[in-house]
Amino acid sequence: MENSRTVFTQISDFLDYLEKDFAVNFAKSDALADLDPTPKFPFLCSRHYADLIKKASDPTALLREILPTKDELKKVDGFVDDPVGDLPAGKSDCVIQKYDQRALIVSTATCGVRCRFCFRKNYPFQNIPDVARQVSDWLDTHTDVWEVILSGGDPLTLSPGDFRELVESIAMHPSVTTLRIHTRLPIMRPDLVMQHFELLRELPARFNSVLVSHVNHADELDSESATLFAQLKFSGWTLLNQGVLLKGVNDSIDKLTTLCRKLFSQGVLPYYLHQLDHANGVAHFEVDDDTARALIAKVRTKLPGYLVPKLVREIAGEKSKTPL
Ligand code: SF4
Repeated sequence: MENSRTVFTQISDFLDYLEKDFAVNFAKSDALADLDPTPKFPFLCSRHYADLIKKASDPTALLREILPTKDELKKVDGFVDDPVGDLPAGKSDCVIQKYDQRALIVSTATCGVRCRFCFRKNYPFQNIPDVARQVSDWLDTHTDVWEVILSGGDPLTLSPGDFRELVESIAMHPSVTTLRIHTRLPIMRPDLVMQHFELLRELPARFNSVLVSHVNHADELDSESATLFAQLKFSGWTLLNQGVLLKGVNDSIDKLTTLCRKLFSQGVLPYYLHQLDHANGVAHFEVDDDTARALIAKVRTKLPGYLVPKLVREIAGEKSKTPL
């Protein structure tokens, strides 16, 4: 699945491919590569995302999302390994339940790229040999659960066979009426989304099917994401986006309004704008709450209400997301 044609694992190869002075300068001033040869959360970037950076009007913003920097080494008070309380909410090796009658499946540790702001960058992913059976066994005894959320990692990085097996194991439970998939692959690895298309087209006949994309910047959307979203929408999927407010990436009125409008032009409703989860090593992406509120208030004056995402924070142990 991952090979040198589709992903970069070496920063030097990635920078050679970009052939852009700004990227080399950014890396020289900030990249971690020569500081930490065995990082816990190593660099990974897809060729598709590298191409988006090449074409971007705002390439440094996208670069910041995926290029390791020295800032990640800083220990900052309040930034922890499990910022959203995944571990205390764990019900099995792969099931997390925080909210009433809904459950989240950590289906894989694999992603299309490694986002430097990731809230699960320190998560102790298990190598789970049989996720489908574990999920099925758990749902057998939790018949009040009506929505299952596939998360990870990125669930669409599963092989077509493993993904189908997981979905089939959930579909065996009539109590589950809604299947939600959280993914960055439409902008990171559209090729991997395409390999699931036969099944993705079938799913709306079996579940209320919701795909939540994680897009943070308008330059991450291109003709390939537009095609994918159009096909999903035509098949009956509800398409929502949740982004994260990130310093140096999307913390301006113009960037946020442009993102929301472009999402809508591709059939996706901006749903959540998350305040940064306080994972160790991400503090340099933080936008303070007052600034975040002021930004979203301005965005509200520029866009119709249905295009203004809800500004929220996830607080460990709370029974819902907390509006700001
Ligand atoms: S795709 Fe999601 S889970 Fe994967 S590295 Fe990015 S933020 Fe983390």
